[in-house]
Amino acid sequence: MVDPRRRVPRTDTILADPRLTAATATEGRAAVKAAVVATLQRVRDGELEPEAVIDAVLATLPGGLRPVLNATGVVLHTNLGRAALSPAAREAVVAASGPTDVELDLTTGRRAKRGRTALAALQRAVPTAGDVHVVNNGAAALVLAATALAAGGEIIVSRGEMVEIGDGFRLPDLLESTGARLREVGTTNRTTVADYERAITPQTGFILKVHPSNFVVRGFTSAATVSALATLPVPVVADTGSGLLAPDPLLPDEPDAATTLADGAALVIASGDKLLGGPQAGLLLGAADLIERLRRHPLARALRVDKLTLAALQATLTGPATPTWEALRLSPEALLARTQHAQTLLAKAGVDAEVIASDAVVGGGGAPELTLPSWSLSLPPAYATRLRTASTPVVGRVERDRLLLDLRCVPPSSDHLLVDMVIAVAARPTPDPADPHAATPPGRGSADSAGSPPAARHPAPRGRRPAEPAGEG
Ligand SMILES: *Cc1c(COP(=O)(O)O)cnc(C)c1O
Repeated sequence: MVDPRRRVPRTDTILADPRLTAATATEGRAAVKAAVVATLQRVRDGELEPEAVIDAVLATLPGGLRPVLNATGVVLHTNLGRAALSPAAREAVVAASGPTDVELDLTTGRRAKRGRTALAALQRAVPTAGDVHVVNNGAAALVLAATALAAGGEIIVSRGEMVEIGDGFRLPDLLESTGARLREVGTTNRTTVADYERAITPQTGFILKVHPSNFVVRGFTSAATVSALATLPVPVVADTGSGLLAPDPLLPDEPDAATTLADGAALVIASGDKLLGGPQAGLLLGAADLIERLRRHPLARALRVDKLTLAALQATLTGPATPTWEALRLSPEALLARTQHAQTLLAKAGVDAEVIASDAVVGGGGAPELTLPSWSLSLPPAYATRLRTASTPVVGRVERDRLLLDLRCVPPSSDHLLVDMVIAVAARPTPDPADPHAATPPGRGSADSAGSPPAARHPAPRGRRPAEPAGEG
């Protein structure tokens, strides 16, 4: 019997492994060396085979944000960072990452309006907006509007629109944190124009309309429209959430900026990383005098966006279709063909996967009622953890004790990578019994629900009702 201590590799030999030199470049030599020393101790203690040292070291390094394949069937998955940027937006981010003319006019050599080309692109996309402004996210846009237009005064809002946007954050709390008071009107299910009208006082800053982006109220309901509210003598601020700039026939229930402005809203607020398919951002579009008040407010400086956001936003607005747009419109036939091809490749490698019909959803607080007919690879649930911890993590979802991998949100050029990851983890010797149901990150049904896809339609018939509504985050 060989004493296992005789087989312990040297620290320097391990550190010279190319995979670890690559890690050293991003994580620093001290962190990598500490991980190697600790891991070699496990070999000495007989807990780990010497051959497994490199993998074990890599597994203990904290790492940065890692690229993940989104096989959840949730197009805008909050826990996976919502919208995937288009290749054009990614290139723009890289190009802007060094010194860039974000606030300089290169022709005159003078200081110029920050992000003017991105703002101009947004303005061109919604020509009816008097002016536009961009802040860090939708919540920041709300805070800026509430602070600049209603601090010390009142915001009138329907009791049916006092929503939680996810992860425990509630719009009423967010608005009141600015020093504005909320004047609640109507009831959960019904609010009329007269309710708003009666609440108007000299203290009123604006009427807020919030799109119920992550839930629906059905039955005996009524709400005042933006066009009806626009007849009242105070500005209407519409939080549309989704980020659609113009109507989209695929999403008839989602509001859009152009229509909401045409209906008479003074200001429209939306997120950049939802249906628009861009970077995290809060878009403000509307009356030029209101936008100017927001832009001039001291808080605007604290909420201003980074040059990378401006670069990505501009490329999203002017570039080709976004991955979000494409994932929403992917035909079931094309998806089935890709899924079957993946199944064939897996079968050749000895991995048995089924192809089943499933439903995908928009997620990210958009179109809670809409399901997209989809197809998935179905695998035993033990694959969930293994694939999440693969060298390129693959995140699917577990339903009815099967792991479903929906290729809808996987770039077609990454289908092979996904197949390779499944084959790689299928070869892992010991099944991992731990945590078989955690295929998706926390979120299903929780406060920060990123949009839980409804149950697969297999073996249930097509068209059954979703098990739970898509949430937000
Ligand atoms: C998503 C959403 C928000 C929050 O926007 P973020 O960009 O996530 O800050 C606010 N209101 C509505 C209606 C939303 O859908």
